[in-house]
Amino acid sequence: MRESEGMTEAFNPFTLSGKKIIVTGASSGIGRQCAIDCSKMGATVILLARNEERMRETFSHLYGSDHQIIVADLTVFDAIPSMVETIVSRVGKIDGLVNCAGISTTLPLKLMTTTKLDEFFRTNVYSAVELSKEVSKKKNMNEGGSIVFLSSVMGVVGESGKSLYGMTKGALLSAARSLACEFAKRRIRFNCVSPGAILTPINEHLPHMIDPEKRQQLEEKHLLGLGSPEDVAYACIYLLSGASKWVTGQNLIVDGGYTVR
Ligand code: NAD
Repeated sequence: MRESEGMTEAFNPFTLSGKKIIVTGASSGIGRQCAIDCSKMGATVILLARNEERMRETFSHLYGSDHQIIVADLTVFDAIPSMVETIVSRVGKIDGLVNCAGISTTLPLKLMTTTKLDEFFRTNVYSAVELSKEVSKKKNMNEGGSIVFLSSVMGVVGESGKSLYGMTKGALLSAARSLACEFAKRRIRFNCVSPGAILTPINEHLPHMIDPEKRQQLEEKHLLGLGSPEDVAYACIYLLSGASKWVTGQNLIVDGGYTVR
């Protein structure tokens, strides 16, 4: 940028410098990329997932210092308050939370059971809600904090076999809208990012990725082809940064054009 334009080299409304950001599901895929890119934008990142070895791999790619690793299964809800207390005692109050942890499936209705419903809602919805409830408390989160849920295009449109997964993602979209109303007084923002298909461990064994014909059909539905984890990470960075300080209760669809037709 040129000084003559009245801007300085330092102008960057998307910076995360000085912010402390928790990223769940940080051992893999979108969560891993999000953690790495948040650290590149200046954040102190708290990685949270179940697999310590794979989180250490993520950790080795982080920029800067003071980052933390927390090993936790987010469906052990009773452990969440003490875990958040530990995080805050180590790094101070939190500025951002990206709820990436999740599971996916392609499951026809005839195979759906209440056990399956329970498993998917516990992992994809209850854990994100429980963690957000704890993190957003006054003692744990700074005013102006930002909470992001990883929803999916399956929360807004349908595909055969995606009802279970889509239900959980739709629940997050609804949650973000009302939580945005509830927390506006403290200027804490809730938003969703809804990706189209990104090749990560979550879907590498699902039929639409392993069957070449189905894979091609899926690619063709995305006008810009399949996405990459950084496409989603950049959307999260926007929602975590001051650049989005007037954006709350929204769903940012990042899908290479999947939903435009
Ligand atoms: P991924 O499988 O690579 O990552 C998911 C992470 O969640 C893993 O690290 C896993 O260990 C963690 N996790 C699962 N259950 C957990 C639990 N109980 N406690 C702690 N951690 C747990 O998948 P991804 O593609 O990176 O997905 C990240 C998020 O993005 C998910 O919520 C997913 O639904 C969503 N999403 C992904 C796509 C895609 O095409 N990849 C599309 C739309 C939405």
